[in-house]
Amino acid sequence: MNEQLVMVRFGEVSIKGRNRNRFEERLVRQIKWALRAFAALTYDRTYGRLLVHLNGESYEPIAVKLRDVFGIGSFSPVFKVDHDLEAIREAALNAIRTIEPAPRTFKMIVKRAWKGFPHDTPQMNHLVGSHVLRNTPELKVDVRNPEAELKVDIQAEATYVYCKVEKASGGFPYGMNGKAVLLLSGGIDSPVAGWMAMRKGLEVEAVHFHSYPFTSEQAKEKVVALAQRLAYFGGKIKLHLVPFTDIQTSLAQTGHDSLIITLMRRSMLRIAERLAEKNGALAIVTGDSLGQVASQTLGSMNVIGRETSLPLLRPLIMMDKLEIIRIAEKIGTFQTSILPYEDCCTLFVPKSPATNPNLRIVRQVETALGDDLDRMIAEAVDGTETLTVTEIGRSDTTNIAEDKWF
Ligand code: ATP
Ligand code: MG
Repeated sequence: MNEQLVMVRFGEVSIKGRNRNRFEERLVRQIKWALRAFAALTYDRTYGRLLVHLNGESYEPIAVKLRDVFGIGSFSPVFKVDHDLEAIREAALNAIRTIEPAPRTFKMIVKRAWKGFPHDTPQMNHLVGSHVLRNTPELKVDVRNPEAELKVDIQAEATYVYCKVEKASGGFPYGMNGKAVLLLSGGIDSPVAGWMAMRKGLEVEAVHFHSYPFTSEQAKEKVVALAQRLAYFGGKIKLHLVPFTDIQTSLAQTGHDSLIITLMRRSMLRIAERLAEKNGALAIVTGDSLGQVASQTLGSMNVIGRETSLPLLRPLIMMDKLEIIRIAEKIGTFQTSILPYEDCCTLFVPKSPATNPNLRIVRQVETALGDDLDRMIAEAVDGTETLTVTEIGRSDTTNIAEDKWF
């Protein structure tokens, strides 16, 4: 036997007991879902890891998918061989040869979990290492700072030989930690915040406020495209499109120019909270980053955040813009985010937005609008249009909606 497979290691190793089981079961389901296009694959689950038998499929396209599955810590292409020294030596050579560029130095790491194996660990280091050296003249041993580590893992059922360990996304399996609503604008930040929330195991439902006809159809399509990209990481995502024109227009007419962003954000939170309640979500995720714009100073966030009693999760709060952009590029949302279409907030941006809004005045303005504001908020919630977005399109044009997997 000399079989190629992928060894997938589960992340968050600190999880114990029943949660560990939930974690693993969900993760295995999601790995199978991510790899559903590769029909030949078969799976073997052992404690803390999953073995994916390639059965002739090639490794690289599978690795591309695995890198994006939340909850995977790392994975390796491995050779599975019998408890036979010659077979192990052969596999060791093959494993070293898969590394590009070819390493100049290496180190042996033998783990002998199955004590029935006839040679002990130092003997195996020598027996396998010397074979590799003999057959790879340009390679030397370096135990301190090797370019490659050759791992021989002797388990009861078989021996696994490999060199490569690829890091994956980490985090928790999608949806394992409950549900949150994500305020998704068309910008760079909120899709990244969504990805980070999803990586931590939160199922997200996206909420977008639009001011049609002031905002264009393209602005809406842009948000759908961003949600589709996020759906790649979660299977599918609900996107709630909230009509915000009336609220925005009324707030703009109050004459408090510098407070308009503060007022808009507060109304957004009130609506988001209602939508969260309706859909069983227990938190609101935003793309706020401290000091980025006037509405994201401590003073502004204090006044805005008081409008909801749900936890406000802000994964980007302490990150620099360049770090955020780097993630946006990595997860594939950046190019869509920088498309130029107007967002509802950019339309009404005042010349000098308040960086330290006064809560008392903000409340006075809202009270003056009184029942009108409450009514408009209720209407916005009622008028919300909900789409189920998948990575390839909307569920009404594909049958992916039937694939309930989380
Ligand atoms: P982003 O922050 O996503 O780059 P932006 O810079 O246009 O977009 P900000 O003014 O920074 O938005 O708003 C801060 C946060 O408020 C956003 O990250 C997002 O979570 C939320 N938000 C703003 N506008 C909208 C909107 N039209 N619909 C939904 N959420 C919004
Ligand atoms: Mg922003």
